[in-house]
Amino acid sequence: MYNSISNLDAIVKTISGTGTLPAETLHKITFCSFAKAGLSLHGATNKQETEIEKLIQTIPAPHRGLANGKLYLNALSFVRSFNQFLKKADESVILKEANIHHILDFLKERIGKVGAIVVLDCGSIPEIVTMAGKFTALNRNAAIFDKAFINPVGATAFLTGQMVSFGREAFLRQYAQLLKETLNAKFYIKSSTIDLVAHEHGVTIENFLTSLNIQKIFNQINHFAKQNSVLITSDHGYDLVGDEHGLYITHGYKEECPLNFSKIALFLVID
Ligand SMILES: [Zn+2]
Repeated sequence: MYNSISNLDAIVKTISGTGTLPAETLHKITFCSFAKAGLSLHGATNKQETEIEKLIQTIPAPHRGLANGKLYLNALSFVRSFNQFLKKADESVILKEANIHHILDFLKERIGKVGAIVVLDCGSIPEIVTMAGKFTALNRNAAIFDKAFINPVGATAFLTGQMVSFGREAFLRQYAQLLKETLNAKFYIKSSTIDLVAHEHGVTIENFLTSLNIQKIFNQINHFAKQNSVLITSDHGYDLVGDEHGLYITHGYKEECPLNFSKIALFLVID
């Protein structure tokens, strides 16, 4: 997986090069590139491909080419190697990347100290990459770590269930608190927005994207990032699934699907 994460750096570089586009637009370009890549590799129906193409048509013309060209190709490399990684992960008994004790040791060694912690429930690869692109465009240093938290079931409970072994209650804010203590941070935020939107509006990808208000999420993080370094992460991402009615967003999907991102939570540091 760790080679594949370097493909994300190329994506961040490309989207940050688009300058000061609104977060919504950056997010849509990024989301569409991943979705198109996932559909190509999964063997999508014509109807599903048309659904993405329609969405790409709503991207402002000067940037539309990215979702069909450069970003799409970057996303294709990433999704291809990520899918291979997931297959291998299924075969191994238990991954150390699925163990919060191991993850905290890694973060402590790699980051040491950070100003603020942001835990986005259901924050997936397109959102983390969009944040990294936005902050890079603002001349901040944005680093996505080559190690990630692996959530084999793609659900919050897999992470929060591990809080008991730290003598804590099984809530996601306890994880945010634990990260804050481990990395000597001053603040933490736990946001449920992405998860709520995925459950309420994930039935169509268009509704999902318009309901997300990624600019607001970015502004919340930027408020802290102005004076602090920030670690942004999640408990799980989301999956892009297709059926006869069309494409939709969920998490913890059990079968193979175009994007099975609910099994990974990236770590992004802004400093
Ligand atoms: Zn959920």
